[in-house]
Amino acid sequence: MQEIRQRIEDAELVLVGLGEAFQYDWGVLLRDDRYQEIEKEIGDDESRVWIVSFLQKMILRRGSEERWRRAYQTLHGLLKDKNYFVVSLCMDDYLYEAGLDEKRLVTPCGGFRRMQCDQNCAGELSAMPEDSYEAVLQYYRGERSIGELEEPRCEKCGGKLRFNQLGVKRYAEEGYLEQWNVYTKWLQGTVNKDFCMIELGAGMAYPGIIRFPFEKMAYYNRKAFLYRVHPQLYQLGEEIGGRGRGIARDPVDFLEKDL
Ligand SMILES: [Zn+2]
Repeated sequence: MQEIRQRIEDAELVLVGLGEAFQYDWGVLLRDDRYQEIEKEIGDDESRVWIVSFLQKMILRRGSEERWRRAYQTLHGLLKDKNYFVVSLCMDDYLYEAGLDEKRLVTPCGGFRRMQCDQNCAGELSAMPEDSYEAVLQYYRGERSIGELEEPRCEKCGGKLRFNQLGVKRYAEEGYLEQWNVYTKWLQGTVNKDFCMIELGAGMAYPGIIRFPFEKMAYYNRKAFLYRVHPQLYQLGEEIGGRGRGIARDPVDFLEKDL
């Protein structure tokens, strides 16, 4: 582990990829008695599943869960004085609480920070309507019945309003594209530089975002080094010429306990 710290310290540029195995697992919410009641009340009713996403938002607003908070704290400590970039597949927004520079972060799968029309009718994002959120909180506290809740609607077309994240009918890429351009420009500056990459929990959900391009950069840049941390998919191809190391470990534990 000392080796990784040293390599980060020596590197001119550091790139971190947070994968789907780094995503918050909603443990607090799933263990919550009231939430379990609500899940039963919603049942298979498609018109009420939106309530779940607002409850997820509620849990996120309470702050990061301890295990992740410590992991992100370690990440912050490693990166804060470096020329870094973080690309994350996580949709829990925890990354934005880590004290890192938002101009050096990109989350292409979206999250809970803004909302969009399910059909992305106007290519625009909007803020979460606080009155809908407050109504869900009242329902959660038992001060309002499920029948009194109204799903928030798109102001333009009247369609469903959803959090801007993968899984909506037409994902509004407007939420991350600008930062993605900043990221690709930053990557251009890594050519022939001492460059350290760390993959944390990036599996095969969206390998085209982290795994494949990271491997490719380790292959082409002889001064690059790639750490791949994943509980199962930690293997690296031989073709990257020894410029990498796979570590079989849960990525959150790895940051929280090992580094
Ligand atoms: Zn719309």
